[in-house]
Amino acid sequence: MRRLLASIHDVSPRFEREVERLLDLLRPHVGDRIALFVVPDHWGAAPIRPGSPFALRLRSWADAGLELFLHGYFHRDTGAHERLGDRLRARWMTAGEGEFLGLGRDEARQRIERGLELIEAIAGRPAAGFVAPAWLYGRGAADALRDCRVGLAEDHFRIWSPAGGRVLSRSPVITWAARTPARLRSSLAAAALLRRLPVRDLRIGIHPGDCHSPRLLRSIETTLRVAARSRRPAAYAELLG
Ligand SMILES: [Zn+2]
Repeated sequence: MRRLLASIHDVSPRFEREVERLLDLLRPHVGDRIALFVVPDHWGAAPIRPGSPFALRLRSWADAGLELFLHGYFHRDTGAHERLGDRLRARWMTAGEGEFLGLGRDEARQRIERGLELIEAIAGRPAAGFVAPAWLYGRGAADALRDCRVGLAEDHFRIWSPAGGRVLSRSPVITWAARTPARLRSSLAAAALLRRLPVRDLRIGIHPGDCHSPRLLRSIETTLRVAARSRRPAAYAELLG
């Protein structure tokens, strides 16, 4: 049966209330088959400390079977981009949140290692993988993921194993944006098309900001309902066989 892979981005103490709300939205459709993309220190202002109430929440989610992915370290793009294309992508596609687009290999590796250690310390098990903020990976980030032998990573169009060097799945991820009315409209239209795509693995990625738009929440709900009719909620780890 075809798979449905659901994820919540930007899991951070800063967005604790929104994350709870998104979990309530997902659970009736996918149960605990949910991937949480965890940001260790969102914008350098929301550190997750081992032993804190939020860290204990993460632990309980991991114990229930939710997958924890490392999702950047600070989430904010502080790098200077050398290539014009990268600068434009960083500016227009991400509102400055493409943290791993401009990082060099060493800096990217250090952040990934630190983040993976934190997740393991909190959850008592290794992170399921790494997903760059805004799904944007520079060359340094791609090299660092191989250096760190990360098991799973994903971008807009595929899931791959940096450690195994294999592409595991090819399909667009359905995601929503409410930053401007035009973006909201285009993401609603895209979701309406993509949720019926006959791909093997359908991915749905939702964000804390989605909670603030009722239209967008309705679209997520419809997408989950339509997708779950013909798909089985699955864990990312299944793709590793
Ligand atoms: Zn994010």
